[in-house]
Amino acid sequence: MIDTLAKIFLKPGKEQSLKRFHPWVFSGAIGKAEGKPEEGDLVNVYSANGEFLATGHCQVGSIAVRLLTFEQQQIEYSFWKTKIENAWNARKALGLTENSETTVFRLVHAEGDGMPGLIIDFYNGTTVMQMHSVGMYLVREMLVNALREVLGDKLKAVYDKSEKSLPFKAGVESKDSYLFGENNDSEVLENGLRFKVDWLEGQKTGFFIDQRENRYLVQHYSAGRDVLNMFCYTGGFSFYAIKGGARTVHSVDSSAKAIELTNKNVELNFPDDKRHEAFAADAFEFMRDIKDKYDLIILDPPAFAKHRDAVHQALQAYKRINTRAFEQIRSGGILFTFSCSQVVSKEKFREAVFSAAAISGRNVRILHQLTQPADHPVNIYHPEGEYLKGLVLYVE
Ligand code: SAH
Repeated sequence: MIDTLAKIFLKPGKEQSLKRFHPWVFSGAIGKAEGKPEEGDLVNVYSANGEFLATGHCQVGSIAVRLLTFEQQQIEYSFWKTKIENAWNARKALGLTENSETTVFRLVHAEGDGMPGLIIDFYNGTTVMQMHSVGMYLVREMLVNALREVLGDKLKAVYDKSEKSLPFKAGVESKDSYLFGENNDSEVLENGLRFKVDWLEGQKTGFFIDQRENRYLVQHYSAGRDVLNMFCYTGGFSFYAIKGGARTVHSVDSSAKAIELTNKNVELNFPDDKRHEAFAADAFEFMRDIKDKYDLIILDPPAFAKHRDAVHQALQAYKRINTRAFEQIRSGGILFTFSCSQVVSKEKFREAVFSAAAISGRNVRILHQLTQPADHPVNIYHPEGEYLKGLVLYVE
């Protein structure tokens, strides 16, 4: 614990969640502050009667402190190095750090790795860092040094992509740039398939790594099917479908840039394969008239709800899009349907999909219940970290 830090005292009784190691302090739980903590500052958090509870990064907003430790310790270089080392060792245990078939994985998954506000993705030697809190942004140099020390010559470059992810009111003038090295070789392997990843321009850190295992499952179900990959982005699910022996694969995304990336990636893996076609179109429009065209449909929409207030609307959108799929998928078809909205719970998402199935009146069996892969771990004390939910459904 650093004694010179500002102090935050919680209201009586509000220490309970911290005693259960939950990593957030909500602004409503704060009784008083001493020493004028500002956004990004480290603060010590105490119970109303002065018992030390935790240390974390201060933030303006409903989550007022993102906690880094519940022990009394210094938050300095060795602290960050240990955190990065633990994250790397966990990926090593998953068989991801020495894998000739898969060279892309998530190295740091925020709260899941005890580093709230920080995402680090590993792209065949280049790590892309995305800071979601000013506190993390301010320690970026230490994080880069820790990455260099822990990864050694496995690390070719570190790219900071926080310009759009930092709270926009924080007044931090962040510009996306390399913090170490420079590497424009953006090709990675996922289960032996090749992908060009554009971390400079792409969405998130460039690639949706979290669907790796779910894509693999699509491969398993694709033989002889006509596949619709809706919200395809870089085309991930489509390649697995082609590899799995699909009859035809249609990839759809509203972004023309995403369609361009998808076509490039298909060409890279399956040159001149006539089974694949990609369309830049709106999902709700495209799915207006697809009656009996497909017998495998993947729906992986963007987070329809980013905030709590938007949950109701998001559930309506999930219901609408899934209804279109249930009503039109061929008999004996398989639907892969996902939600990546953290604020939409597994139960609520399931209810939305159930309602959609009921509207269609079809007989539907749940074949699999999917989630995020192990390199996107959930901190057991932070169940909110389980954000990706998926269902694989057999439609009679
Ligand atoms: N399935 C992808 C990730 C999907 S991300 C993968 O495995 O990598 C969500 C995508 O939905 C984005 O590419 C975004 O451009 C697209 N999108 C957002 N709104 C859309 C809409 N109304 N219709 C079609 N695509 C949309």
